[in-house]
Amino acid sequence: MSELKIDTRLWSSKARNLSPYVPGEQPQHDNLCKLNTNENPFPPSPKVGEAIAKVLTQQAQELRLYPAPESNDLRAALAQAYDLDVSQVFVGNGSDEVLALIFASFFLKERPLLSPDIGYSFYPVYAQTFGVHLVKIPLEDDFSIDPDAYRQPCSGIIIANPNAPTGLLLSLSDIRKLASEHSNAVIVIDEAYIDFAQADTDSTDAQVSAVSLINECDNVIVTQTFSKSRSLAGLRVGMALGSASLIEALTRMKNSFNSYPL
Ligand SMILES: *Cc1c(COP(=O)(O)O)cnc(C)c1O
Repeated sequence: MSELKIDTRLWSSKARNLSPYVPGEQPQHDNLCKLNTNENPFPPSPKVGEAIAKVLTQQAQELRLYPAPESNDLRAALAQAYDLDVSQVFVGNGSDEVLALIFASFFLKERPLLSPDIGYSFYPVYAQTFGVHLVKIPLEDDFSIDPDAYRQPCSGIIIANPNAPTGLLLSLSDIRKLASEHSNAVIVIDEAYIDFAQADTDSTDAQVSAVSLINECDNVIVTQTFSKSRSLAGLRVGMALGSASLIEALTRMKNSFNSYPL
């Protein structure tokens, strides 16, 4: 193929100044054990294939219709699985899209968004895309996160937990501390890898997931994904769990962009 010459004259300055996330390579060989994008090396449950086949054979005529705009069946099933109200569940096209809507809905230019200096590399991309002022807070020497290092005015804090790529877990008591010290900021806990986590043996926390804090801390929003532990990266299903007020903001933002993402 001859090399394409790209003419950017007709681009907006915004499009010209973006530095997009570079997705991990998806090589076209099947004799590799692929590790670069953290997909699951194991297939999903056989029940997943059966459920998809059933829909495609028995309900194929429904493909002519748009799906339910608020994905009510999926949200109701998730609400039941997490013991939440359906108004506390939001779903999107992968948790990456859910995170993008979170950036657009909650973070401001005037008050910074705080995030560890080593973390998920999509956060700085979204900060640039949505004009959010991102301030990176250095990890401690042992790569852990010290909540006291976040004591400054901000519109939000975003942390992958366990953090990527350190794999270290922030305790629920530290997350609770961040939430109470920053009651006018949104605390985003990105739990893409939470199913691989375990509490420290000396921890008093019975659980590791911040979903258990949602009813107590109305400024905490948790994102999870079907892409990693659940072996369904190809389906692109991600979710946010939080107070009904935070979820409503995401729904409004989604419906101002693409009302049928799933
Ligand atoms: C993989 C990953 C995501 C995105 O997951 P999708 O739901 O597939 O978009 C988000 N955050 C972290 C930390 C991840 O590693």
